[in-house]
Amino acid sequence: MGGERVVRPIVRSFARGFEREAGAHVRAGGHAVVWDSALAKHKPGERRLGRFVFRKPRSPEVNDLGYWAILDMDMDTWSTITAGPLRGLSFVRIPQDCLHIVDDRVTRDSIHPGATRTMHLDCLECAACCRANKVILEDHDVERFKAGGRPELARPPYTRKDGDRLVLRLLKSRLCRHLQGDNKCGIYALRPDSCSTFPAGSECCLFSREDELGLVDGLKS
Ligand code: SF4
Ligand code: SF4
Repeated sequence: MGGERVVRPIVRSFARGFEREAGAHVRAGGHAVVWDSALAKHKPGERRLGRFVFRKPRSPEVNDLGYWAILDMDMDTWSTITAGPLRGLSFVRIPQDCLHIVDDRVTRDSIHPGATRTMHLDCLECAACCRANKVILEDHDVERFKAGGRPELARPPYTRKDGDRLVLRLLKSRLCRHLQGDNKCGIYALRPDSCSTFPAGSECCLFSREDELGLVDGLKS
């Protein structure tokens, strides 16, 4: 079998009062949504308060699936729980506009037992993250293009401005301009750090596969 074997966290939901069980799930490799409320069920549209709990990201964080799980909610900093059954674990407060994201993760993973799940992902059969993306170019990416003899890769038509950031420009079809017909990257050796560090099996990867290919954890939706 081609591709990569990835062990990813299973996301579970816990009502208040079940912090010990949530802690055991996270320490076994999972991610936990821990609600402030003792209610297990909520009404649609109801304001809910809760934390997304995960193990402290390894440093550097670029390949840590906990770190990418909060990046997918547009956050890149976290706090540490200092007391109680969750002590020593990391958390973020779940923004109200991200409730549907954690709900979807919990629903997706409800069919899987345990705290982790092993997946086989073949990027050459997928390339979902090379579509409809926003790859930000940092200074060292531009330097790499220059050092590799391709300085034009940092200029139009390959790039565009997004506010004060430089990003890769997509084709009208929403594919990255550098994606080839065989799903290989046409600038693989020089590709931006955002591409080379993007971890298969992360929440961002799973979201891309679902959004672009209709694959929910490998199953056609
Ligand atoms: S979305 Fe995931 S599996 Fe697909 S190409 Fe990107 S990293 Fe690989
Ligand atoms: S530069 Fe390469 S790896 Fe990055 S999005 Fe484009 S095709 Fe994919």
